[in-house]
Amino acid sequence: MKIIMLGAPGAGKGTQAKMLAEKFNIPHISTGDIFRANIKEGTELGKKAKEYMDKGLLVPDELVVDLVMDRFKADDCKDGYILDGFPRTIPQAEALDKALAAVGEKMDYAINVDVPDENIVNRMSGRRACVGCGATYHIKYNPTKVEGICDKCGKELILRDDDKPETVLNRLKVYHDQTQPLIDYYGKAGIVRDVDGTVDMNDVFNAILDILSK
Ligand code: ADP
Ligand code: ADP
Ligand code: ZN
Repeated sequence: MKIIMLGAPGAGKGTQAKMLAEKFNIPHISTGDIFRANIKEGTELGKKAKEYMDKGLLVPDELVVDLVMDRFKADDCKDGYILDGFPRTIPQAEALDKALAAVGEKMDYAINVDVPDENIVNRMSGRRACVGCGATYHIKYNPTKVEGICDKCGKELILRDDDKPETVLNRLKVYHDQTQPLIDYYGKAGIVRDVDGTVDMNDVFNAILDILSK
């Protein structure tokens, strides 16, 4: 099964993608996580990506596409995967389609997690990420057992630089300009399914499972 998660920054794509990956035992491929790992390791790619990410801008397509195509070659992708944060532009979607078509494959679903802009700043300012394992929490909607400490690995939680309100507003604008058109793009391919992302995360998950079972 090959699934794309669509939705605004903070809509809950990552949260749902992790739950789906666990349930179906397929990899969760997050380009944001890949960039953050590169930044942490101080790679050339990380240095380049950081310049854009800190401003709330998209990393250029040419730095993203090859990275994902390479990831697909790994053995764990043979039964499918969940794409979270990729594609984010029409050229990225076209590159993905082309690469899949070349090997006789296609995406099965594009799940659009729908959350209005007015909820997003709230979601992002309360998001906390683990510096150790990358797990994501929310101070109000998904708190850890001990404040500031990851439940899974015991490391410290941080507010991502790009989750500060001024950057979030930029990211939302970029989302509407460059990523939202993908809903139409995959709509034409007949694979978009909408879910209400404003309800409890377990209810969002059940709505997605319902879609995938049909
Ligand atoms: P969120 O989950 O909040 O939407 P991500 O972790 O997916 O955020 O992405 C963080 C940042 O990484 C983006 O704002 C962008 O700068 C960069 N990024 C991630 N994926 C892509 C992509 N496919 N194309 C371009 N930039 C990307
Ligand atoms: P995205 O990957 O789309 O940027 P995340 O999955 O990281 O979004 O979620 C953004 C923030 O909102 C996180 O702090 C997460 O814990 C929280 N969150 C995710 N889904 C829900 C939900 N259904 N209700 C409330 N908060 C949520
Ligand atoms: Zn952790």
